[in-house]
Amino acid sequence: MSAHALRHFCSPAMTTPMKTNLLDLDRAGLTDFFTARGDKGFRATQVMKWIYGQGVTDFEAMTNISKGLRTDLQGCAEVCLPKVVSDHLSDDGSRKWLLQMADGNCIETVFIPEAGRGTLCVSSQVGCMLNCSFCSTAQQGFNRNLGSGEIIAQLWIAARDLGQTSDGERVISNVVMMGMGEPLLNYDNVVRAMGIMLDDYGYGLSRRRVTLSTAGVIPALRQLREDCDVSLAVSLHAPDDLLRDQLVPLNKKYPIRELLDACKDYVGEGRRRVTFEYVLLAGVNDSDAHARQLARCLEGVPAKVNLIPFNPFPETRYQRSSGNRTHSFFEILNKAGIVTITRRTRGDDIDAACGQLAGQFQDRTRRRERMQKATRVAGL
Ligand code: SAH
Repeated sequence: MSAHALRHFCSPAMTTPMKTNLLDLDRAGLTDFFTARGDKGFRATQVMKWIYGQGVTDFEAMTNISKGLRTDLQGCAEVCLPKVVSDHLSDDGSRKWLLQMADGNCIETVFIPEAGRGTLCVSSQVGCMLNCSFCSTAQQGFNRNLGSGEIIAQLWIAARDLGQTSDGERVISNVVMMGMGEPLLNYDNVVRAMGIMLDDYGYGLSRRRVTLSTAGVIPALRQLREDCDVSLAVSLHAPDDLLRDQLVPLNKKYPIRELLDACKDYVGEGRRRVTFEYVLLAGVNDSDAHARQLARCLEGVPAKVNLIPFNPFPETRYQRSSGNRTHSFFEILNKAGIVTITRRTRGDDIDAACGQLAGQFQDRTRRRERMQKATRVAGL
């Protein structure tokens, strides 16, 4: 980590509650922040260019801003970043950061390089309340939502550490909200952070290149279409409600048919498709009959299917499907005319694969109470 970054990370002792963390504000929020202080609204885009375009967090280095305002900003604002606790590089080029928030909680962010693109997998919550039976994050329970500044900071830190390609392009071309947590249960913060990802003065990514992955919180999904219609991935994992109830308990509240209707509405009439994620679990959801049922269930839905090899973790009852089984499942979907890809598993050697993101909790006490309260608030 550079000395520059060290000056700006926030540890509990260094937090300054009176100061506004500018990472928590999108362009509209920053404009309000400056106008409320009697300054010009265009300061918002000036400051965003420094923070997101140049990676500058020190107001003193923002040289097109008057000395007076810089001093003023030192007193009332900050760009507060999580601390990088560890930064691991996998043999296959994936990279995983363990980041510590100001309150001591830790989350993980993963970069996955592929031919022609680089994808950052971003977390939205510390832990998760959905309790999917095949996911290691579920074992931790839920601690809290991340603030929008903590979400966008993951991109800031990864972009800084990854730098640029040899031809001056950004290394991160795509973002997936597919790390720890259920993004649609932290709606406002996730939408604000994605707004900065899309903003020309933020990271300028196109909607196609930002993907939100959800287990299917239907009301929030319908709202998302209005507020920030990024690409959509849905964690399906089963072709019928009985099985999906076991794998993704949220299905009891939002069953498959209603979810698929919401997906159709989300993409509308155009050429967009929803990516359905399907983790293949040996002997559980991976038979030829399951594949045929899945193909039938997706009839009339603009769909792509992403078959994901199960990533094991300690004490899991599941096993990865064999290569032959995976191939047979793939062929059935393919013959049914569904665009299907089999995802390679990445970052195995650094536990960076899907469902292996663990993070750490600062406060493991009262976990059950916190979980109960959170699920009540989320209406689950
Ligand atoms: N809550 C969101 C995003 C987090 S999960 C969602 O459910 O989509 C991101 C993806 O990783 C999901 O498709 C999830 O099903 C998958 N995943 C979780 N645990 C996994 C595991 N052990 N092996 C492989 N994929 C897993």
